[in-house]
Amino acid sequence: MASILLFFRILLRIILVVALADFLAGGIHWAEDAYFTEETPVIGKLFIRPNIVHHHHPRFFTHLTWWQSSWDLALVGTLVLLVAWPLGLICWQLVLFVALSVNANEIHKWSHRSRKENGRLISLLQDWHVLQTPRHHGVHHSDPKNTYYCPITNFVNPVLEKLDFWNRMEAVIEQITGVAHRVDTAVRDQGPGPAWLAEYRPVRVASATTPSA
Ligand SMILES: [Zn+2]
Ligand SMILES: [Zn+2]
Repeated sequence: MASILLFFRILLRIILVVALADFLAGGIHWAEDAYFTEETPVIGKLFIRPNIVHHHHPRFFTHLTWWQSSWDLALVGTLVLLVAWPLGLICWQLVLFVALSVNANEIHKWSHRSRKENGRLISLLQDWHVLQTPRHHGVHHSDPKNTYYCPITNFVNPVLEKLDFWNRMEAVIEQITGVAHRVDTAVRDQGPGPAWLAEYRPVRVASATTPSA
């Protein structure tokens, strides 16, 4: 009996840590999508531009390496562990939280890759809903692209949606600061988006039967 209780207690803690990491990643994604632009100093070019590209050309980042997608999160994750260590705060919950957070972009990337690109293990974890499924993440990419910001699981987004969480947050922020959710040029009738997006447009491979001239 005691071991069953222990099992469920650990399982509950794992679910809470996973939910927290998903929520944090979703919160950052929301702030980037809703409030920052490519003109924002420092983070504009580094983080917001890739976000704008992602909304216009969702498959572009699937060709990037883990390091290209995750260097910034890896840096922050390492700093968190380096600060936590001397303070005696290292525990499996923190390590799991950091590991998931560092890989949030990579897990997001898997939602955009084909089953063949992902391989059997990742596809299986998506099938079992251990990882977010492409269909679930597709909700974020359907207009007006202002919900389902969390990229890791299938269970955090519906809860936030039920609470109307992001809209309520935006209403409070607008009331206090007067700043509303920015225009998303990837949404129908809000485009066409900046000219530099052309360099990220997917290249169409001509079929062998297509005349070359
Ligand atoms: Zn987004
Ligand atoms: Zn996406």
